[in-house]
Amino acid sequence: MSPGNPELVNALVQVLGSENVLTALEDILPYGFDGTATFKQRPVAVVFAHDAAQVSAVIKLARTHRAPVVTRGSGTGLSGGSVPVPGAVVLCLVKMDRILEVDPANLTLRAEAGAITQKIFDAADATGLFYPPDPGSMKISTIGGNVAENSGGLRGLKYGVTRDYVMGLEVVLADGSICWLGSKCVKDVAGYNLRDLFIGSEGTLGVVTQVLLKLLPKPAARQTLLATYARMDSAAETVSAIIAAKIIPCTLEFLDRKTIQCVEDFAKVGLPRDAEAILLIETDGHPAAVADEAAKIEELCRAHGATSVRRAATAAEAAQLATARRSAFSALARLRPTTILEDVTVPRSELAGMIREVEAIATRHQLNIATFGHFGDGNLHPTILTDERDTAEMHRVELAFADIVQATLARGGTITGEHGVGLAKKPFLKSQLGDASYELLRLVKRSLDPDGLLNPGKIFDQS
Ligand SMILES: Cc1cc2nc3c(=O)[nH]c(=O)nc-3n(C[C@H](O)[C@H](O)[C@H](O)COP(=O)(O)OP(=O)(O)OC[C@H]3O[C@@H](n4cnc5c(N)ncnc54)[C@H](O)[C@@H]3O)c2cc1C
Repeated sequence: MSPGNPELVNALVQVLGSENVLTALEDILPYGFDGTATFKQRPVAVVFAHDAAQVSAVIKLARTHRAPVVTRGSGTGLSGGSVPVPGAVVLCLVKMDRILEVDPANLTLRAEAGAITQKIFDAADATGLFYPPDPGSMKISTIGGNVAENSGGLRGLKYGVTRDYVMGLEVVLADGSICWLGSKCVKDVAGYNLRDLFIGSEGTLGVVTQVLLKLLPKPAARQTLLATYARMDSAAETVSAIIAAKIIPCTLEFLDRKTIQCVEDFAKVGLPRDAEAILLIETDGHPAAVADEAAKIEELCRAHGATSVRRAATAAEAAQLATARRSAFSALARLRPTTILEDVTVPRSELAGMIREVEAIATRHQLNIATFGHFGDGNLHPTILTDERDTAEMHRVELAFADIVQATLARGGTITGEHGVGLAKKPFLKSQLGDASYELLRLVKRSLDPDGLLNPGKIFDQS
């Protein structure tokens, strides 16, 4: 039993059963970190809830014992959001993983918050429908985590992010009350839009227990292209040219030279090792429109300096090309013990300049930084390959990290495009928002969680 808070642990066992309360060191250690390098903190206990009533009971108990509650899905977060704070109970929702309803008449799907994103995509797909948000982690992330981070994905350029698909939420508030926000109505303007307030709130305002999602008809056709460039600027110019031609591909992804080489070593998909950049482009929709768009995209790639353009002939080849991008993070993570994945977004016109600046920052701080990302959205993932045991190098990493964020802000960008603020970006939020907006955020937190027990110290420091 935890020496930290035995009375609370006893009470949790009464409500959830001992099989749903972990306190042994070897059991709780894996819940002390998420996908973010360098943040670690041991929780007092890890508990698993099976429904909203149990979530409510856990929150009420934690309040009684003044213990913070850190909600957790699969722990794949990349900003330290589900890393425990001292004395915290980790409330893990992975056992609440049921798809509750697929409603083809209303094009909606209702699921418990712990359902895996891929399972939601598959359930929609099985009825000829489409759930577009596809974070690179979708095989393991939960829909609750996606909502809490407002996650994006490879299809974000055309289809948007998680927020664009959330029609309703069941949320357990800081006092333990359970409320439903939103509805199946396509048009619904009754009252403040509280649903949107919880999307992207990183577990700091309430615990999402159920999600009602909008689905789309499945696109009838898809075409994948891979364009190779000897110059980064040509790749960036192609992106602008495609958008200017009024074509919105569903995917427009980019890999730099270092990432290309790592991915090729890892996935062996036949990428050109000497290229400075590649673009992975996917268009979907009506077959005739897809054929027309693919031809125009190929023409634009060549006109803007692509040295080769490969069009996938089969679905298997398309999947293989997409693997090149989807495996970027895992491929890079093999090179050094610690992988620090940045997540900044700049206006698309700033992309080529921003990538060059990241390269200059890497040289200045003598670091190995590879960059890939969602070129169509302006969302870049400069990835610092390092070793957290090397104190001198980690100091240079911190300096480089701050330089990348400052460069982003100077270009009118945002400190996070999809991974959230959490612990990792907390020091930079005020610089982006300014004093008044920053205070407004804190006011919202104080209104909904006056005792500051829900994921405290994330996004901003407790006042
Ligand atoms: C290989 C890899 C690729 C990735 N690719 C992408 C990508 O393409 N796009 C992207 O956006 N992200 C990506 N991520 C980041 C991460 O997967 C997403 O942020 C994801 O949404 C986190 O889901 P999770 O279930 O793991 O949440 P966790 O990491 O467990 O939690 C994340 C945050 O959400 C809160 N939270 C979790 N569940 C709930 C809930 N039910 N109610 C309230 N708060 C909750 C937590 O407190 C925490 O603050 C990637 C991560 C990895 C490791």
